[in-house]
Amino acid sequence: MTSLRTLPVPLARLPAELLGSYLNRLADANHITVRELSHLLGPGRFHARDSDDLTGWTLGSTVILAALTGRQVIELRYAIPALHDAPDEPPNPPPDADSTIDFWRCPACLLYAASRGVRRLAIQHTHPHERICATHGRWRGGGDQRPLRHLLPEALHANRRHRRLLRRHDLLQLSRDHHHAQELTARWLTDHDGPPELRQLWTERLQRLGEDPYGDPHRPSPDRIELVTYPETVTLTSLIGSNHNDAAERLTSSRASLIGTGQSHEDRADLLNPARPPLTG
Ligand SMILES: [Zn+2]
Repeated sequence: MTSLRTLPVPLARLPAELLGSYLNRLADANHITVRELSHLLGPGRFHARDSDDLTGWTLGSTVILAALTGRQVIELRYAIPALHDAPDEPPNPPPDADSTIDFWRCPACLLYAASRGVRRLAIQHTHPHERICATHGRWRGGGDQRPLRHLLPEALHANRRHRRLLRRHDLLQLSRDHHHAQELTARWLTDHDGPPELRQLWTERLQRLGEDPYGDPHRPSPDRIELVTYPETVTLTSLIGSNHNDAAERLTSSRASLIGTGQSHEDRADLLNPARPPLTG
């Protein structure tokens, strides 16, 4: 291999970044196209900013990337989780149950990224509880990264409860439960088949968010739906997680629990009573 020169502009690192995000930032910073960069790396394919695809990636690609960035291979593997699967074998297709995990990703908190010297859009792997930046109290799950302290304080309360659940539950299982709970609350909102009290609450929150300059005024965007239903999704997540064996029954009864909690976040926190049976599975 001819010796490679390190690209002139080094890249500030973010943890858990997507491979495509990293390569695009690297190309941008050095004023080359991502195609040119991909060509250097060998696979000769396009890496979209929000992709984490290792197709065609070889051991050589990681070594070349390390040479180009002046980093150690081990450092790159820390920063870019996809590279854990490289290089000896093509990554195994993820089992069905985990296929959604690959899509748990969102833009880095702009304030956090700026504090690390990252000025361009970077995308990170995230778990559902990380879609609100705890440090800055901002939503980063899509759309505007807005401070929630005054706008939607109940989402911040819910995020603290969500993070507390992690002390007692397995991260992956809790994340999957949250994903299922979120599908359910989103459907309650969009299909109008949820409890009317909740729809009223969510409509009021949507109004607080104000006009979506890029959205349809009659159809809130998925990230807005996720945000306004988030407090109830966390409650539902806790109910699902509290006992997987009778999850279906609890889902039915949880509708009543959710409505019964009214507007008080502290009341809702009672649903997270640690006296519940421990998580199984
Ligand atoms: Zn932040």
